[in-house]
Amino acid sequence: MQLRYQAGRAALAVGLLVCGASITPAGAQQEADAIAPEQATTTGAFATASPRVSEALAAKARGVPVVARDWMIAAAHPLAVEAGADILQKGGSAADAMVAVQSVLGLVEPQSSGLGGGAFLVWYDAASGEVTTLDGRETAPAAATPTLFQDGQGTPLKFFDAVVGGRSVGVPGTPMLMHQAHQRWGRAPWAGLFDRAIELAENGFPASARLAAMIAGDAERLARNPATAAYFLPGGAPLQAGTLVKNAGYAETLRSLAVRGPEAFYSGSIATDIVTAVQSDANPGVLSMQDFAGYRVKQRPPVCVSYRIYEICGMGPPSSGGLTVGQIFKLIEPFNLAGRSPDDAETWRIFGDAARLAFADRGRYMADIDFVPMPLKGLLDPDYLATRAALLAGEKALETVAPGQPAFDHALLYADDDALELPSTSHISIVDQAGNALSMTTTIENAFGSRLMVRGFLLNNELTDFSFRSHRDGVPIANRVEPGKRPRSSMAPTIVLRDGRPVLVIGSPGGSAIIGYVAQAILNTLDWNMNVQQALARPHRNNRFGPFELEKDTAVVALQPQLEALGFTVALREMNSGLHAIRIGEDGLYGGADPRREGIALGE
Ligand code: GLU
Repeated sequence: MQLRYQAGRAALAVGLLVCGASITPAGAQQEADAIAPEQATTTGAFATASPRVSEALAAKARGVPVVARDWMIAAAHPLAVEAGADILQKGGSAADAMVAVQSVLGLVEPQSSGLGGGAFLVWYDAASGEVTTLDGRETAPAAATPTLFQDGQGTPLKFFDAVVGGRSVGVPGTPMLMHQAHQRWGRAPWAGLFDRAIELAENGFPASARLAAMIAGDAERLARNPATAAYFLPGGAPLQAGTLVKNAGYAETLRSLAVRGPEAFYSGSIATDIVTAVQSDANPGVLSMQDFAGYRVKQRPPVCVSYRIYEICGMGPPSSGGLTVGQIFKLIEPFNLAGRSPDDAETWRIFGDAARLAFADRGRYMADIDFVPMPLKGLLDPDYLATRAALLAGEKALETVAPGQPAFDHALLYADDDALELPSTSHISIVDQAGNALSMTTTIENAFGSRLMVRGFLLNNELTDFSFRSHRDGVPIANRVEPGKRPRSSMAPTIVLRDGRPVLVIGSPGGSAIIGYVAQAILNTLDWNMNVQQALARPHRNNRFGPFELEKDTAVVALQPQLEALGFTVALREMNSGLHAIRIGEDGLYGGADPRREGIALGE
């Protein structure tokens, strides 16, 4: 193996081997209804794939993990994974590989993430043993007000009336996050990390089956903006799977970023073009050049909770991911699910109501901590969680679920949130040769974001992750729009540690369903010892706002009568997660990719 970026493979291998709202039920229904059916067929779309990609796809289809010793990467598209794998193979770090993966994802999976969006990153540093989190979330413009998503009478706008156009666009964070991660943890030269994406953008890539299906399903909204329509609906017709797509504008943008770094994006003509597109749209936004100049990536303390012999570390506010996943684990811990069957209705009663309790707190208390006082410690306080867990001791589903009253040092008065998050987004998990681990969830929010395309990439609609309502009966909502604030997220990039070393790197897209997808896949792996591929493939069961969601057309629907007998209302839904995970064992690395999407894991 060639190690172009650093010194000894042996030293690195040793490093690795020692690692051994709540929205209302009505809102939830609206969410379920609005999700376009877009299940991917994976293997067919990549018929001409390289041998290593074909092997990885075959492993995924057989339900077995990809196994490796030195490094591993799992993400949502084979071309992006290969770009990252090539960097890792040459001795690049997980941060280097992420830059390459993200830049290719922005091309081949443009509906989910890219330069026009935001991301959260969790990093485990092998040398120091520390976990660091970076917040590259989009921010609201300085001119935004709490009524941004209300009509003249103060009534909240309909979801897609808010989403499509300039109004929903926040200052993108992903380009600066890529650069900061590289500055902190990169080994390879920055500029070279964009080579693969530039080459693919110039020479073309085949549109995947999933991308084509999603374009066809969203054609009316994509047609509203001329630049967006020209790219996704050439000649007025949706791009077909397998069509070779070129994106010269994106190649040009990447070249500027490669040469000039984030300044190329945050000051100068790229920012000007974004601001112009947002302000001149028929549904205009208030983003300005000053907002770009003021954008910062923020380092935040990770949110870590102990669970049995493990420590589960994730992203704190403005994401609700780490806290809500953490609360779920603390609420189920007294019930020893490891000692119960993973198919038992009683197991899922406990998990489902734990998730409901956690979601009630999420809807009341969680938002951008730089803007609203949040009971961060109180929400994870052992005595508080023991009181909440005691609610699960009965035999039936909880009849009512309300937020608790976590300890706080001054009075807290918030009303419940009604933000609606629909799934798009992407997740990247990487372990490099030095044993560093990276877990990053990256998004432009809704599929195709605001549907505004500038310079070859789509602009986010992340501001619709704020609550459209600012108050309820005169009481303010923590996650209301405010100038410069970051909308609450559900993204839950996670690294699980044991004895201070990472054992699982995981995350998923899925809007507010992310929290349940991630919690459950962790449970499948840690408590029931499923291999990582089985853990991701296992049919979903989830509860956010009351109805118990079971993944339709899977074996898990057999639980329906039993859950109903326990008092739950059951909803059968398409549950389009996109989990990507790496299990770090004593004897090597095991990678898994969600069979519901097109991704793979590759390692060596
Ligand atoms: N915008 C959502 C969030 O930040 C993610 C959307 C998705 O996963 O599709 O939580």
